[in-house]
Amino acid sequence: MVAENLKRVTDRITKACERSERPVSSVFLVCVTKEAALEAIAEALSLGVTAIGENRVQDALTKYRSVGNKAVWHLIGHLQTNKVKDALKIFSLIHSVDSIRLAQEIDKEAFKLDKVQDVLIQVNVSGEGTKFGIRPEDTIEFFKTLLLYPNINVRGFMTIAPDSDDPEKARPYFRALKQLLDQINNLQLTAYSLQLLSMGMTNDFEVAIEEGSTMVRIGRAIFGE
Ligand SMILES: *Cc1c(COP(=O)(O)O)cnc(C)c1O
Repeated sequence: MVAENLKRVTDRITKACERSERPVSSVFLVCVTKEAALEAIAEALSLGVTAIGENRVQDALTKYRSVGNKAVWHLIGHLQTNKVKDALKIFSLIHSVDSIRLAQEIDKEAFKLDKVQDVLIQVNVSGEGTKFGIRPEDTIEFFKTLLLYPNINVRGFMTIAPDSDDPEKARPYFRALKQLLDQINNLQLTAYSLQLLSMGMTNDFEVAIEEGSTMVRIGRAIFGE
């Protein structure tokens, strides 16, 4: 089942790239394993999946004992400051930096590990009260503050669109995040530009790709409901 699902997902990613005249290599698949059994994860890895996304540090650590470095680990869920130390042991990209306090803690712990931690800023584009993330209008200031932390490397933005059965409803939020990325890059605050836009899940990943996503986070379409 995982094999067929994965094939279907990668076909859909390819088609969305073609529609938007983007190279397939410009979209990276993060396979979200938070609800997957270890056997299913192993199958996905054998089929060429290279990155897995988990939304809880503790669950990820448990799975890490079996999976180890056969995959690159992405933290996609909210991170509490008291879990930072553990998170830094395994995650190569943290998608969910959403407060100065969290950034400070990551910087401090990363320094101890002699590591520069790649992160994304989570932006609450929709403004839903139930969602974590920096408000779009505060994001540039927030990014400037993160530049002061030597052991954090901001690579881009992440967002979660409002839950909906209609992927078109997500389009304005994805478009807004891409605009924000372009805007911040135009300011040339750093010698390098922000490259990563983590947006798009099972319900809306094709629209996200059409709007410039470089990283889709897909669980259910691969592992079933
Ligand atoms: C669970 C989760 C996903 C994957 O969602 P699916 O609908 O299963 O594809 C992506 N991003 C985040 C932050 C999640 O928590």
